[in-house]
Amino acid sequence: MLAEIISGNEISQDIRTELKLEVQKLKEKGIVPGLGVILVGDDPASRSYVTAKERDCEEVGIYSDDNRLPETTSEADLLALVEKMNNDPKIHGILVQLPVPKHIDSDKVLNAISPEKDVDGFHPINVGRMVTGQEAFLPCTPNGVLEMLKRKGLETSGKKVVVVGRSNIVGKPVANLLLGRGKNANATVTICHTGTADLKAETLQADIIIAAAGQPNMIKADMVREGAIVIDVGVNRIEDSSKKSGFRLCGDVEFDTVKEKASYITPVPGGVGPMTRTMLLFNIVKSAKKHNGVK
Ligand code: NDP
Repeated sequence: MLAEIISGNEISQDIRTELKLEVQKLKEKGIVPGLGVILVGDDPASRSYVTAKERDCEEVGIYSDDNRLPETTSEADLLALVEKMNNDPKIHGILVQLPVPKHIDSDKVLNAISPEKDVDGFHPINVGRMVTGQEAFLPCTPNGVLEMLKRKGLETSGKKVVVVGRSNIVGKPVANLLLGRGKNANATVTICHTGTADLKAETLQADIIIAAAGQPNMIKADMVREGAIVIDVGVNRIEDSSKKSGFRLCGDVEFDTVKEKASYITPVPGGVGPMTRTMLLFNIVKSAKKHNGVK
């Protein structure tokens, strides 16, 4: 079997087109969705992530309030800025780019963001709401994975899903969402990690594999059942002297061999990555609507 490639770029573009229209309609009502962005320090990777997120906002018409603070910013000053944004009616989502410098407690800062503006979905209140099936801001990568499956018309209900990875930002929340009762969830979920005795025995049982371990090419063809759906969340840099940068990106799945066996597969780059960025925009628009009582 040769897998159909699920293009995160194409699905993202469709969602962005829908969001653009929604933002236009909100603007006609005098509502401009706004994102407050805070970057502390000068880490080049963080700078480029923030710039990309702001460009995404601009593309769909979301206003972004850019705050780039020096490395020496105190925790108190950062908390004060978060509090100011919590109370600013022009701001519907707050994004503190991680990592923050070592002298700042990142949990303290993330927990200071109002759960009603927590568009990353990392606040314990939103995590609790998500786990208990209440209305919540869903974390962008896990929600992006579900949205991809949904838009591709791929059923999860009744399917056996194996998630490789148990982090708080990907593995655990994606497993939790798939465990939900909704039509686009309702799966039987196994979560694997470094303590799993026989990973291959688990992945071979899966109708859907979600790889989020951060280990380049670790999911090989002999770990995948014929016809399984394979979602690759991993983004890893591996040395490649033929590239100007000296590296290339690869996922957690050995794409070239697994695509011969799977029914659907996501590429890296161009798979889950663009979905993550797009679901952030989705959450900002959702928050702007909620804050203004728009259905
Ligand atoms: P973490 O390092 O926080 O978690 C990795 C998880 O994978 C851990 O639970 C770890 O187990 C498990 N793991 C690692 N090696 C193995 C192994 N050999 N066998 C079984 N389990 C293993 O990573 P994140 O969840 O933050 O990210 C995972 C990947 O996804 C990374 O490549 C990251 O760059 C990427 N990512 C991509 C995003 C996107 O938008 N596409 C967004 C976020 C992340 P244990 O708990 O036992 O240590």
